[in-house]
Amino acid sequence: MNIKKPLNALFAAVIGAGLLLTGTANAQKYPDKPITLVVPFAAGGPTDTIARLIAVPMGKSLGQTVVVENVAGAGGTIASAKVAKSKPDGYTIYIHHMGMATAQALYDKLPYDPMKDFEYIGQVADVPMVLLGRKNLPPNNFKELEAYIRTNKEKVTMANAGPGAVSQLCGLIFQSRLGVRVTTVPYKGTGPALTDLVGGQVDILCDQTTQTIPFIKEGKVKVYGVTTPKRLSALPNVPSLDEQGLKGFDVKVWHGVYAPLGTPKPVLEKINAALKKALSDPEIKARLDSSNIDIVPLAKQNGDSLKAHLDAEINRWGPIIRKANIPD
Ligand code: ASP
Repeated sequence: MNIKKPLNALFAAVIGAGLLLTGTANAQKYPDKPITLVVPFAAGGPTDTIARLIAVPMGKSLGQTVVVENVAGAGGTIASAKVAKSKPDGYTIYIHHMGMATAQALYDKLPYDPMKDFEYIGQVADVPMVLLGRKNLPPNNFKELEAYIRTNKEKVTMANAGPGAVSQLCGLIFQSRLGVRVTTVPYKGTGPALTDLVGGQVDILCDQTTQTIPFIKEGKVKVYGVTTPKRLSALPNVPSLDEQGLKGFDVKVWHGVYAPLGTPKPVLEKINAALKKALSDPEIKARLDSSNIDIVPLAKQNGDSLKAHLDAEINRWGPIIRKANIPD
């Protein structure tokens, strides 16, 4: 009687049980060292700002420091690829915005699949965008800006954070709607882009309100419109692009928190609980409210909601991006 098979099965079962027990033991101990929260853009930008805001209370809840690591480049896709290949132990987590959905339509091939290579922890917040100009750019309102761009075309420089960034998506739709191509100036994030806009080195930028409202209120930059159909309470006198002629212009930037595929469920649950606690923190809400940033309702602060939303957004933005051609 061949006893090899039963022995192999027994051996596999023992190994399997051992791995399961180790995994469970590790999950129970989690976290027993600092956690890295990867941000796909340079420091000082809106994604980095939100990451650093939630990292502190998340760390408090988890009992370990949450260290923000900026992994910039290629509109956020370098960071997404890095996180997808990271050890699924809960010590690498990721915050990214809707670029997780739009990148597929902007790159022929991505070294990761947003719908297969990640665990989904929860949605975070939705952020409006504003169309900004350097303070000495001649146009003083959207109509004048439109005329200025039609006259100057490629002489106008528009900053963004690379293909896959929402500043790039906003710029793409903006140029497509105007039917005019300007010159794109890519940065590692819109933190550095905003520095150059304030310094007058670049003409326009479409970016989230997260850290731009003070620059607008202090007159360090010009503002030509908001990207949501409704005006923002923080900028009541700034018309929407929709009401200024770009009918239906509606870009609001959503954010999600992810982990590499295979991160144990009990670990994901601990991270999710810490995220929810951070988003219920009144100080966080007050800071985000001041930039008209809407924390998503509790019902969206979970993995299933994030995964479903990501899938829907991939299907929504793909055709819009592929259709948005900018004439040469
Ligand atoms: N606002 C950047 C973008 O265009 C992201 C960032 O720098 O936080 O996606």
